[in-house]
Amino acid sequence: MKIAIKTFGCRLNQYEGEGIREGLKRHGHQIVDPANEPDMVIINGCAVTQRAEQKAFQFIRKQKRSFPESRILVTGCLGTLIKMEKTNYPWVDIVYPQNEKSFMAGVLEKEKPTIQQGVSAAWFDIQDFARHTRAFLKIQDGCDNRCSYCIVPFLRGCSYSRPVDNILKQAQILENNGFKEVVLTGVNIGDYKDKEYRLLSLLKLLLSQTDLPRIRLSSIELEGLDEDLIRLIADNQERIMPHIHVPLQSGSDRVLRLMNRSYNSADYSRIISLAQSVIPGLLVGTDVMVGFPGEVDDDFNRTRELIEELEIQHLHIFRYSPRPGVPSVKFSGEIDPGIKKDRSKILQELGQRNKKRFIKGLLGHDLKVLFEKEDGFGHWEGLSENYIKCFVKYKSTLHNKIVQVKAVGMSELKLKVEIERLT
Ligand code: SF4
Repeated sequence: MKIAIKTFGCRLNQYEGEGIREGLKRHGHQIVDPANEPDMVIINGCAVTQRAEQKAFQFIRKQKRSFPESRILVTGCLGTLIKMEKTNYPWVDIVYPQNEKSFMAGVLEKEKPTIQQGVSAAWFDIQDFARHTRAFLKIQDGCDNRCSYCIVPFLRGCSYSRPVDNILKQAQILENNGFKEVVLTGVNIGDYKDKEYRLLSLLKLLLSQTDLPRIRLSSIELEGLDEDLIRLIADNQERIMPHIHVPLQSGSDRVLRLMNRSYNSADYSRIISLAQSVIPGLLVGTDVMVGFPGEVDDDFNRTRELIEELEIQHLHIFRYSPRPGVPSVKFSGEIDPGIKKDRSKILQELGQRNKKRFIKGLLGHDLKVLFEKEDGFGHWEGLSENYIKCFVKYKSTLHNKIVQVKAVGMSELKLKVEIERLT
């Protein structure tokens, strides 16, 4: 069949989307663009917020209008939500919940998956990461926490970890296929455990058993970030990137309790300050939610003050949206959408100010940049170790090259750099 795949949402879903693509190709299907009259369109959808859900359905309706004959298959967290809600959507032909999506390629062939297929399929051994220079590497899935606003544990189940030897094999495949950076991803990677291995020892294994130049951690919950891990990053900055993304959600202890988060603002401040003091040039990112039921001005101001105090540079801002079946839908004190919008804008501007100050502080410094793409006018763009977009004018290709550069200028939230040495 001519099959198009459209993935929405997090790095985990992106990684699995790649696995689906490779699985379908192995089964002889042709992967085409959604605009190329596909026989089937696979929507690897996200359901973490109402907005994410709406985006997928907008795409489905548009696709169905353009190609009424195309069959629509929905999978991913959105697939699980549709199954859970037992809702029929006229434009959706087939639904595969998240925990069955890894068998999709075979099932479309009416094949009965073998155990071995089961293991590798469940973790999606991938060879490539099409259209990406940096590869995501799924190490864990599911979550044992029960944050009161979060639907993820209901869609992806309890926490489980990929066998360590399977991760190593995957990392070596990506390294042998030329990837210079892998981003370790999952729902709650700090909860990684397989046999005696934990995230710390897994990182040590990847450092010793691969020559991957760059290993980056994707989002990690505060409870997974301890002093040992912080010191490991500090001692291996060459290869473990000085960039952490640690969800805060709120700076108000009252709201954190309502969210059923496992820490308070003092815990968060202590760990992040430790990391900032131990890891030079560290960039800190976070997830923050505005408009949680009952969030009053004082609560919001605590969030804003904490982000200011810690100078957190990279903000993912979510406006609270009630998700089906989660405890917070019963909470009183719904926040007006206009207030959510204002609070979101205030944090966005704060995040940009913090990031601008951080980038300014890098001027004159040497950095290593993994260049990814060219803008058609001879400017190559890539990411520094600490996740800052950098650009340079250069005649020949810099694609997938790690280059020693000096930061010489800035434009908006990007660094203008000069090449010192091609590594
Ligand atoms: S830690 Fe909380 S917010 Fe994150 S996936 Fe688990 S339940 Fe959801």
